[in-house]
Amino acid sequence: MTLLQIIKEPNPLLRAISSPVEVIDADLKDFMHSMLDTMHAEKGIGIAAIQVGHPIRALIVEIKSGFPFFIINPVVKALSIEQISLQEGCLSVREDDGIGFIRNDIERPISINISYTNLHGQTLELDIDGNKSEYHKWFARCLQHEMDHLDGKLLIDYQPILSPVDEL
Ligand SMILES: [Zn+2]
Repeated sequence: MTLLQIIKEPNPLLRAISSPVEVIDADLKDFMHSMLDTMHAEKGIGIAAIQVGHPIRALIVEIKSGFPFFIINPVVKALSIEQISLQEGCLSVREDDGIGFIRNDIERPISINISYTNLHGQTLELDIDGNKSEYHKWFARCLQHEMDHLDGKLLIDYQPILSPVDEL
């Protein structure tokens, strides 16, 4: 098991635009399994390669323990018009104490459809209907969060959603 160092805001590398993965080989497989080990150690449900300092378009989503999705070069095919507000955290965005997570309510499409390449080099499609179950809802959400990382975007870039109480 190899644990990698998670880089944290305000490390400028988090703002990099990640490059497409060109070759899926043993090195990439090893690297992505190290990403998975690191994500488990940090108790995360998703991780992007840039979070361990590698600006390549590779990420992992694991909503159901033991069933990780290794997603390479994802491309959005469709997003639902319907949106949902959910609270997100990020392994790279910590409170000032460096331990706690900054949480942010973010509104995003509830469903997403992507094409991607898996670790076997197969091109696949994922059509995640967030209305189907809690699993699908969080899968669609986590995937969008991790895909933001590929383009250097973080959850703190979104305007917080004010509840009616906050607006008083
Ligand atoms: Zn994140």
